[in-house]
Amino acid sequence: MAIIVQKFGGTSVGDVERIRNVARKVKAEVEAGNRVAVVVSAMAGVTNQLVAHTRDISADADPREYDVVVSTGEQVTTGLLSLALHEIGVAARSWQGWQLPIRTDGVHAKARIEDIAADDLTAALLRGEVAVVPGFQGLSADGRITTLGRGGSDTSAVALAAALKADRCDIYTDVDGVYTTDPRIVAKARKLDKITYEEMFEMASLGAKVLQTRSVEMAMKHRVRLQVRSTFEDRPGTLVVDEDEIVEQELVSGIAYSRDEAKVTVAGLQDRPGVAGAVFGPLAEANINVDMIIQNISQDGKTANLTFTVPEGELRRALDVLETHKAGMRFERLIANADVVKVSVIGVGMRSHAGVAQRMFQALAEKGINIQAISTSEIKISVLIAEDYTELALRALHTAYGLDSDAA
Ligand code: ADP
Ligand code: ASP
Ligand code: MG
Repeated sequence: MAIIVQKFGGTSVGDVERIRNVARKVKAEVEAGNRVAVVVSAMAGVTNQLVAHTRDISADADPREYDVVVSTGEQVTTGLLSLALHEIGVAARSWQGWQLPIRTDGVHAKARIEDIAADDLTAALLRGEVAVVPGFQGLSADGRITTLGRGGSDTSAVALAAALKADRCDIYTDVDGVYTTDPRIVAKARKLDKITYEEMFEMASLGAKVLQTRSVEMAMKHRVRLQVRSTFEDRPGTLVVDEDEIVEQELVSGIAYSRDEAKVTVAGLQDRPGVAGAVFGPLAEANINVDMIIQNISQDGKTANLTFTVPEGELRRALDVLETHKAGMRFERLIANADVVKVSVIGVGMRSHAGVAQRMFQALAEKGINIQAISTSEIKISVLIAEDYTELALRALHTAYGLDSDAA
């Protein structure tokens, strides 16, 4: 008998009728002869509302209490789904994160799963019971409830699949698979039958929210067979696989974007050895992630401008840190801009082909879109552009790399 983990996202469990629909999908897997563990998200919108409640009471909420609050949405759906399963004659019970437990580190609001004690679950599965487990939540070594960061139920599901040595981990969501780019923005986006772990990892970390980045990292590490598919339509989804399972490799497999970027320019820096360290050292100490970096010499050849990006939510703090350390780096002024977006093209095919970046630059130039920063790695190229051009850029690149579907 195969062990299967099914994960249902927020829209899939968005109301009671949808929870009944999920129960029927679980029952179908049980009736096909499988042992089934289910991971559920909170009902759509609930986590946002819980976050808003904590912010209303405290702008800078104690992260331990924040986690107590925001983890509750998933507890509700585990109970409701178990009830819905009972109603259609399926033996099931809910297991909260602390009951197993799902052990995490102590970094509240973005904890990492360290280990899942799966013995009780395995015993339940062997008894023929469906185990219903909340996504997103865990337990720290201090015995406190933690959460895994937004979108974290994907990671819960993959971690559970690894712990149970499951044969498959199916991520059920409101799209029928991973697309070449966000189908909500580009109507001509095409569903991929397969994507490599590496590409999926880059897509997720560069902004495609269909899977949480850490879930892909974990699936890659533990070789979990991962599939993204629709809760609402019964058709094959997208398999996340090893590179050698893909026969025809495209040059570019997908395009991702992230609006969660802000650009900082430190203008009129004294251009001397050690100056980059003087700027980035304090930012690193403050735990601020710096991404794209460009430096250019000013016209007089004596000073330089250093431009880089930080997550939008960290912009205020980054500027404060730079002002505080101004004496150590000597600059004229700081220029900040949060109206930028990072657009990235991703594909393992890039490793063996030249001219991929040029095609990107040309497609953007033809639309009159100015590139403000560039960064590349082995299988991706990212550019920073004005946020207003997000959709135009995505569509132009989608066409330029031959990704448009014929259907739309
Ligand atoms: P869930 O609540 O099921 O976890 P999410 O909202 O987290 O669902 O993720 C699904 C959404 O991801 C889709 O509705 C889609 O708009 C978005 N998305 C972004 N990029 C992609 C992509 N490349 N392929 C598919 N979906 C994508
Ligand atoms: N409910 C959590 C969130 O909205 C976790 C998840 O749905 O993956 O971020
Ligand atoms: Mg999600």
